[in-house]
Amino acid sequence: MIWRDDSAKDPPGAQDWEEQRREMVRWQLRGRGIHDERVLGAMGRVPRQEFVPASLRHRSYDDSPLPIGRGQTISQPLMVATMLEELGLQGHERVLEVGAGCGYQAALLGELCREVYAIEIIPELAEMARTNLARLGHANVEVVLGDGSAGYPAKAPYDGIIVAAAAPHVPAPLVEQLAPGAPLLIPVGAWWSQVLQRVRRRSDGSTETEKLVGCAFVPLVGEHGIP
Ligand code: SAH
Repeated sequence: MIWRDDSAKDPPGAQDWEEQRREMVRWQLRGRGIHDERVLGAMGRVPRQEFVPASLRHRSYDDSPLPIGRGQTISQPLMVATMLEELGLQGHERVLEVGAGCGYQAALLGELCREVYAIEIIPELAEMARTNLARLGHANVEVVLGDGSAGYPAKAPYDGIIVAAAAPHVPAPLVEQLAPGAPLLIPVGAWWSQVLQRVRRRSDGSTETEKLVGCAFVPLVGEHGIP
Protein backbone atom coordinates (compact mmCIF):
# COMPACT_ATOMS: atom_id res chain seq x y z
CA MET A 1 0.00 0.00 0.00
CA ILE A 2 1.26 3.49 -0.82
CA TRP A 3 0.74 6.14 1.85
CA ARG A 4 0.28 9.67 0.67
CA ASP A 5 1.77 12.15 3.10
CA ASP A 6 -0.50 15.17 2.68
CA SER A 7 0.88 16.88 5.77
CA ALA A 8 4.05 17.71 3.86
CA LYS A 9 2.16 19.86 1.34
CA ASP A 10 1.68 23.60 1.68
CA PRO A 11 -1.89 24.49 2.63
CA PRO A 12 -3.91 25.31 -0.49
CA GLY A 13 -4.43 28.99 -1.28
CA ALA A 14 -7.80 30.53 -2.17
CA GLN A 15 -7.27 29.87 -5.87
CA ASP A 16 -6.57 26.20 -5.27
CA TRP A 17 -9.78 25.83 -3.29
CA GLU A 18 -11.73 27.51 -6.07
CA GLU A 19 -10.15 25.19 -8.59
CA GLN A 20 -10.96 22.13 -6.48
CA ARG A 21 -14.55 23.33 -6.11
CA ARG A 22 -14.88 23.85 -9.87
CA GLU A 23 -13.60 20.34 -10.46
CA MET A 24 -16.03 18.92 -7.91
CA VAL A 25 -18.95 20.64 -9.62
CA ARG A 26 -17.79 19.53 -13.04
CA TRP A 27 -16.97 15.87 -12.39
CA GLN A 28 -18.78 14.79 -9.25
CA LEU A 29 -22.00 16.72 -9.80
CA ARG A 30 -22.63 17.82 -13.40
CA GLY A 31 -20.87 14.72 -14.70
CA ARG A 32 -23.22 12.53 -12.71
CA GLY A 33 -26.48 14.14 -13.74
CA ILE A 34 -27.03 17.10 -11.39
CA HIS A 35 -28.44 19.77 -13.70
CA ASP A 36 -30.18 22.40 -11.55
CA GLU A 37 -28.05 25.45 -12.31
CA ARG A 38 -28.96 27.15 -9.03
CA VAL A 39 -27.77 24.11 -7.06
CA LEU A 40 -24.58 23.83 -9.15
CA GLY A 41 -23.97 27.56 -8.70
CA ALA A 42 -24.39 27.41 -4.92
CA MET A 43 -22.10 24.39 -4.65
CA GLY A 44 -19.56 26.26 -6.70
CA ARG A 45 -19.67 29.18 -4.26
CA VAL A 46 -19.95 27.76 -0.73
CA PRO A 47 -16.45 26.97 0.62
CA ARG A 48 -16.73 23.37 1.90
CA GLN A 49 -13.22 23.62 3.40
CA GLU A 50 -14.56 26.16 5.90
CA PHE A 51 -16.88 23.55 7.38
CA VAL A 52 -14.73 20.42 7.69
CA PRO A 53 -12.38 19.90 10.65
CA ALA A 54 -8.91 21.42 10.16
CA SER A 55 -7.18 18.03 10.13
CA LEU A 56 -9.28 16.94 7.12
CA ARG A 57 -9.28 20.17 5.15
CA HIS A 58 -7.08 18.76 2.43
CA ARG A 59 -9.91 16.27 1.74
CA SER A 60 -12.69 18.87 1.61
CA TYR A 61 -13.52 18.21 -2.06
CA ASP A 62 -13.14 14.43 -1.95
CA ASP A 63 -15.94 12.41 -3.51
CA SER A 64 -16.97 11.05 -0.09
CA PRO A 65 -18.50 11.85 3.27
CA LEU A 66 -16.09 13.12 5.97
CA PRO A 67 -16.18 12.88 9.77
CA ILE A 68 -17.09 16.13 11.57
CA GLY A 69 -16.73 14.91 15.18
CA ARG A 70 -19.04 13.24 17.70
CA GLY A 71 -19.42 10.27 15.34
CA GLN A 72 -21.23 12.40 12.73
CA THR A 73 -20.42 13.08 9.08
CA ILE A 74 -20.76 15.75 6.42
CA SER A 75 -22.40 13.99 3.44
CA GLN A 76 -20.72 13.29 0.11
CA PRO A 77 -21.11 16.35 -2.19
CA LEU A 78 -23.18 14.32 -4.68
CA MET A 79 -25.68 13.35 -1.97
CA VAL A 80 -25.96 16.97 -0.78
CA ALA A 81 -26.55 18.13 -4.37
CA THR A 82 -29.08 15.36 -5.03
CA MET A 83 -31.12 16.32 -1.99
CA LEU A 84 -31.00 20.01 -2.87
CA GLU A 85 -32.02 19.34 -6.46
CA GLU A 86 -34.90 17.08 -5.42
CA LEU A 87 -36.14 19.78 -3.05
CA GLY A 88 -36.66 22.01 -6.12
CA LEU A 89 -36.20 25.39 -4.42
CA GLN A 90 -36.84 28.59 -6.36
CA GLY A 91 -35.74 31.24 -3.90
CA HIS A 92 -38.80 32.43 -1.99
CA GLU A 93 -39.10 29.48 0.41
CA ARG A 94 -38.74 28.99 4.15
CA VAL A 95 -37.03 25.67 4.82
CA LEU A 96 -36.27 23.46 7.82
CA GLU A 97 -33.14 21.32 7.92
CA VAL A 98 -32.98 18.56 10.52
CA GLY A 99 -29.37 17.68 11.40
CA ALA A 100 -27.34 20.88 10.91
CA GLY A 101 -24.03 19.12 11.65
CA CYS A 102 -21.23 21.50 10.68
CA GLY A 103 -23.63 23.80 8.81
CA TYR A 104 -22.49 23.09 5.24
CA GLN A 105 -25.84 22.04 3.81
CA ALA A 106 -27.56 24.81 5.78
CA ALA A 107 -25.25 27.33 4.08
CA LEU A 108 -26.23 25.95 0.67
CA LEU A 109 -29.91 26.11 1.60
CA GLY A 110 -29.33 29.71 2.65
CA GLU A 111 -28.06 30.43 -0.87
CA LEU A 112 -31.08 28.75 -2.45
CA CYS A 113 -34.04 30.06 -0.48
CA ARG A 114 -35.21 32.94 1.69
CA GLU A 115 -35.04 31.62 5.23
CA VAL A 116 -33.53 28.51 6.81
CA TYR A 117 -34.00 26.96 10.24
CA ALA A 118 -31.37 24.28 10.89
CA ILE A 119 -31.92 22.18 13.99
CA GLU A 120 -29.16 20.10 15.61
CA ILE A 121 -29.34 17.85 18.67
CA ILE A 122 -25.63 17.79 19.66
CA PRO A 123 -24.72 21.08 21.39
CA GLU A 124 -21.06 21.17 20.19
CA LEU A 125 -22.15 20.68 16.58
CA ALA A 126 -24.92 23.28 16.83
CA GLU A 127 -22.30 25.71 18.13
CA MET A 128 -19.89 24.77 15.32
CA ALA A 129 -22.60 25.29 12.68
CA ARG A 130 -23.56 28.63 14.20
CA THR A 131 -19.93 29.82 14.25
CA ASN A 132 -19.23 28.67 10.69
CA LEU A 133 -22.38 30.26 9.28
CA ALA A 134 -21.82 33.55 11.11
CA ARG A 135 -18.18 33.72 9.98
CA LEU A 136 -19.26 33.31 6.36
CA GLY A 137 -22.12 35.81 6.66
CA HIS A 138 -25.13 33.51 6.17
CA ALA A 139 -27.56 35.85 7.91
CA ASN A 140 -30.72 34.07 6.68
CA VAL A 141 -29.84 30.79 8.43
CA GLU A 142 -30.76 30.26 12.08
CA VAL A 143 -29.29 27.30 13.96
CA VAL A 144 -31.50 25.87 16.68
CA LEU A 145 -30.41 23.40 19.36
CA GLY A 146 -33.00 20.67 19.85
CA ASP A 147 -34.60 17.40 18.78
CA GLY A 148 -35.52 17.88 15.13
CA SER A 149 -37.22 14.47 14.88
CA ALA A 150 -40.21 16.45 16.17
CA GLY A 151 -39.49 19.24 13.68
CA TYR A 152 -39.43 22.84 14.84
CA PRO A 153 -43.08 23.83 15.32
CA ALA A 154 -42.20 27.41 16.34
CA LYS A 155 -41.62 28.43 12.70
CA ALA A 156 -43.93 25.97 10.88
CA PRO A 157 -45.31 25.54 8.26
CA TYR A 158 -42.30 25.09 5.95
CA ASP A 159 -42.11 25.18 2.16
CA GLY A 160 -39.64 22.30 2.39
CA ILE A 161 -38.04 20.07 5.02
CA ILE A 162 -34.76 18.21 4.52
CA VAL A 163 -33.55 15.57 6.97
CA ALA A 164 -29.81 14.78 6.93
CA ALA A 165 -30.07 11.70 9.16
CA ALA A 166 -31.72 8.31 8.68
CA ALA A 167 -35.12 7.61 10.22
CA PRO A 168 -36.73 4.20 10.82
CA HIS A 169 -40.01 5.70 9.53
CA VAL A 170 -41.29 9.12 8.46
CA PRO A 171 -41.89 11.15 11.66
CA ALA A 172 -45.50 12.39 11.72
CA PRO A 173 -44.65 15.84 13.16
CA LEU A 174 -42.46 16.60 10.13
CA VAL A 175 -45.33 15.89 7.74
CA GLU A 176 -47.64 18.02 9.87
CA GLN A 177 -45.21 20.96 9.63
CA LEU A 178 -45.24 21.01 5.80
CA ALA A 179 -47.19 23.65 3.90
CA PRO A 180 -49.69 22.14 1.41
CA GLY A 181 -47.82 20.72 -1.61
CA ALA A 182 -44.41 21.15 0.05
CA PRO A 183 -41.81 18.34 -0.02
CA LEU A 184 -40.07 16.51 2.84
CA LEU A 185 -36.84 14.76 1.86
CA ILE A 186 -35.80 12.04 4.25
CA PRO A 187 -33.67 8.87 4.22
CA VAL A 188 -35.83 6.03 5.57
CA GLY A 189 -34.68 2.53 6.48
CA ALA A 190 -32.29 0.48 8.58
CA TRP A 191 -29.20 2.02 10.17
CA TRP A 192 -26.82 0.64 7.52
CA SER A 193 -28.79 1.54 4.38
CA GLN A 194 -31.82 3.60 3.49
CA VAL A 195 -33.88 4.95 0.61
CA LEU A 196 -34.16 8.68 0.13
CA GLN A 197 -37.87 9.46 0.05
CA ARG A 198 -39.80 12.55 -0.98
CA VAL A 199 -43.07 12.94 0.87
CA ARG A 200 -45.52 15.63 -0.20
CA ARG A 201 -48.45 16.77 1.83
CA ARG A 202 -51.56 17.33 -0.30
CA SER A 203 -54.02 20.08 0.58
CA ASP A 204 -56.53 17.47 1.88
CA GLY A 205 -53.91 16.33 4.41
CA SER A 206 -53.10 13.02 2.68
CA THR A 207 -49.52 12.28 1.56
CA GLU A 208 -47.78 11.08 -1.57
CA THR A 209 -44.41 9.29 -1.30
CA GLU A 210 -41.72 8.83 -3.97
CA LYS A 211 -38.65 6.66 -3.51
CA LEU A 212 -35.62 8.36 -5.05
CA VAL A 213 -32.21 6.71 -4.45
CA GLY A 214 -30.38 4.40 -2.07
CA CYS A 215 -28.23 6.11 0.56
CA ALA A 216 -26.45 5.66 3.90
CA PHE A 217 -26.85 8.36 6.55
CA VAL A 218 -26.04 8.49 10.26
CA PRO A 219 -29.11 7.75 12.42
CA LEU A 220 -31.79 10.26 13.32
CA VAL A 221 -32.04 9.99 17.09
CA GLY A 222 -34.65 11.57 19.36
CA GLU A 223 -38.30 11.06 20.13
CA HIS A 224 -39.43 10.20 16.59
CA GLY A 225 -36.13 8.71 15.42
CA ILE A 226 -34.19 5.63 16.43
CA PRO A 227 -34.93 5.05 20.12
N1 SAH B 1 -26.19 18.43 7.15
C1 SAH B 1 -24.98 18.24 7.92
C2 SAH B 1 -24.58 16.79 8.10
C3 SAH B 1 -25.48 16.12 9.00
S1 SAH B 1 -24.95 14.63 9.75
C4 SAH B 1 -23.82 18.99 7.32
O1 SAH B 1 -23.95 19.58 6.25
O2 SAH B 1 -22.78 18.97 7.97
C5 SAH B 1 -26.44 14.37 10.62
C6 SAH B 1 -26.65 15.29 11.79
O3 SAH B 1 -27.94 15.01 12.31
C7 SAH B 1 -25.67 15.05 12.94
O4 SAH B 1 -25.01 16.25 13.24
C8 SAH B 1 -26.58 14.59 14.08
O5 SAH B 1 -26.13 15.03 15.34
C9 SAH B 1 -27.89 15.22 13.70
N2 SAH B 1 -29.08 14.62 14.30
C10 SAH B 1 -29.38 13.32 14.49
N3 SAH B 1 -30.58 13.19 15.08
C11 SAH B 1 -31.08 14.46 15.24
C12 SAH B 1 -32.27 14.99 15.77
N4 SAH B 1 -33.23 14.22 16.28
N5 SAH B 1 -32.44 16.33 15.76
C13 SAH B 1 -31.49 17.17 15.26
N6 SAH B 1 -30.33 16.71 14.76
C14 SAH B 1 -30.12 15.38 14.73
